[in-house]
Amino acid sequence: ENDLLYRPPLDLAFIFTHAKDNFALQAKLRSAVGSLLQHSSAPLRLHLITDEDGFHIASEIITEVQAANQLDLRYVKLVYVSADDFVSEIRESVDLLRKFLTHRSNAYYSDPLFFFSFFLHRLLPGLDRVILMDVDIKVKGDIAELHSHFERFSPTNVMGMALEQTPSYRHMLSVYRKAHPNTTLGGPPTFSNSLSNAGDARDTLVHRHGFPGYNSGVVLMDIKKLRESKIIASYMSHSKLTNLTQHYNFHGQLGDQDLYTLIAFDYPDVFYTLPCSWNRQLCVWWRDHGYKKIFNEYWTCNEELKIIHGNCKTQIPED
Ligand code: UDP
Ligand code: MN
Repeated sequence: ENDLLYRPPLDLAFIFTHAKDNFALQAKLRSAVGSLLQHSSAPLRLHLITDEDGFHIASEIITEVQAANQLDLRYVKLVYVSADDFVSEIRESVDLLRKFLTHRSNAYYSDPLFFFSFFLHRLLPGLDRVILMDVDIKVKGDIAELHSHFERFSPTNVMGMALEQTPSYRHMLSVYRKAHPNTTLGGPPTFSNSLSNAGDARDTLVHRHGFPGYNSGVVLMDIKKLRESKIIASYMSHSKLTNLTQHYNFHGQLGDQDLYTLIAFDYPDVFYTLPCSWNRQLCVWWRDHGYKKIFNEYWTCNEELKIIHGNCKTQIPED
């Protein structure tokens, strides 16, 4: 048992902003961290990207959770990372990304926090690797096992994410898909839309199965590679984003994961794909908005669930 203390701590990060008086968000953090700690075999350093009020609230919640579960306090260290100062530092880049990747009808995702992950090397400059997780999750597996996926990264993999489990990118690409009927972009992962090599080589050859895009609720980030990635940096440009969103006729609205999905269209090797079990998304909004017939082709995940993600405000069931 005591061995645990001699294992190096794993670095995890949560974004926790606008937390004051937001009791729903606070409850999510309680459930996320409580379940995380219960199943972790490794000591953890939790980097809380928040403001002073938020850090105070989070510290209380996490202390309570540790006491309630009779957890050894030495296993968890909290680190305060100031979001306030950072927002002004990245304002210009965020404004650029927002211009292309937010939608008036979905203003929720226009908050700068939804773009923080691009700048993790500046937010957490001292770290080599970090797992960034949403707070609307419940952890059922050992986070050390998730962390071990870093060992499987290829030299080109900068970050790891599970696929998006809804047809949201199929929808955002509907104009492009009409013009390119053989494309695999936006298609469901298990069934190939087209096995032919016709069409754009860049998508039909590389994504042999459909590529539904990525979900950024759980991100394994190699900070060093992010800092050095010329590919990712090249996307922070007005002309690049103009060309790209025009080429794919892409109207994003979900923040960072839209850009990761766009980058993956052209550079799939930048990303490591995590098993669906590590970010099982519960949102079924698209099932009831035009995609009932094909929804399950995206949503099916037959693995043992390790992280359940109650995205789009979906309640996570007790069991
Ligand atoms: N978040 C936050 N404050 C907010 C809204 C979101 O700190 O007011 C953080 C929180 O970590 C959350 C993440 O941003 O899990 C992403 O938002 P959300 O999970 O609501 O998006 P979804 O997964 O539903 O797309
Ligand atoms: Mn979420």
